[in-house]
Amino acid sequence: MPSDSEFWTFASAFRRFLKRKLCLAEDPSDACNSPIIDAHTIPRSQLRKIAEQGHVHSFDSSPAQLAKSDGKIAIKSFGVGQFSVLNCFCRRHDNAIFVDVEDVPLVFSPRQLALLHYRTVASELYRKIRMVEATNYQIEALSKKRKRNRDALQYLDAFNEGQKLGMRDGRLAFAECQRILKEDDYGALSALVIRFRRMPTIMTVGGFYPEFGFDGRPLQTLGDSNEFYETISFNILSSEERAAVAMIWSKGHLNPLAFARSYEQQPSNLYTTLAIQASFEHLENTCVQPAWWDGLRKIEQDLLLRRMQVAGSIFEERRGSSLQYTGVTHDDWEFDSLEYINV
Ligand SMILES: [Zn+2]
Repeated sequence: MPSDSEFWTFASAFRRFLKRKLCLAEDPSDACNSPIIDAHTIPRSQLRKIAEQGHVHSFDSSPAQLAKSDGKIAIKSFGVGQFSVLNCFCRRHDNAIFVDVEDVPLVFSPRQLALLHYRTVASELYRKIRMVEATNYQIEALSKKRKRNRDALQYLDAFNEGQKLGMRDGRLAFAECQRILKEDDYGALSALVIRFRRMPTIMTVGGFYPEFGFDGRPLQTLGDSNEFYETISFNILSSEERAAVAMIWSKGHLNPLAFARSYEQQPSNLYTTLAIQASFEHLENTCVQPAWWDGLRKIEQDLLLRRMQVAGSIFEERRGSSLQYTGVTHDDWEFDSLEYINV
């Protein structure tokens, strides 16, 4: 099995493929006629709320960082214009589709929930398309070497099969999101929205296939080609100048629902810490307020980074206890209210 550092070296090759441009909203009847832009998955207006001098902290897994630290990722500063951008929409489609989350306050209306979910599913699909390309490239490069590393090749082949399954399910999920928006069929989605009294100290937008609940119970086991994997989008954003966590999934999908319920059933004074843990566990597209991060003890910073290091590596199996409270409280935005929408 490749090591952590090999994974992150591969991840930086992957990053080159993420520069390739594509508009996921392109349609034969609605061709793109404007350039592909750096589309933000977390709106800049949101990032500014936790930024200091226009910057937030996020993960550094660049080749330079990996080379100097034996493959260890770190935290570094990003300008709000650079963080959380993907080349997966053209300007016209990006403006037209997301007007109802970009230009009006975020209150988690049914349409806003559908748009957040659409964008997450789109960005995950885009990443999977690029991941398959990057893996194919890597396999080809390894096959051409005179001294073939059979183990590595076998591993990459198996890994690529898993990614292709993810891409297959990602395309289905994306098509469903397009349908929901087109037909205003918001009843096809369910959500859990948790509101707090204080502003968030981290923000995240992303999606994943829940494997374990916050109670440690198993949900879906990934890697079976006969299974359809159910996805959840997990967002930490600011709504009405306070922190909010929003989880969104297809109505009727039982794994994301069980995931949301396992969160609800934890003590409410742990909601903040558990949301932070889940973000570092599952979503590289997470950024933090610099002052908050700098105020953490070194041991806490290491604990959180280690999560991203291990969990971000797809070569490592996730542990059942990965989302359970570890005994370390990272922050408390002060729980206010919790609401299930259309479950
Ligand atoms: Zn387009």
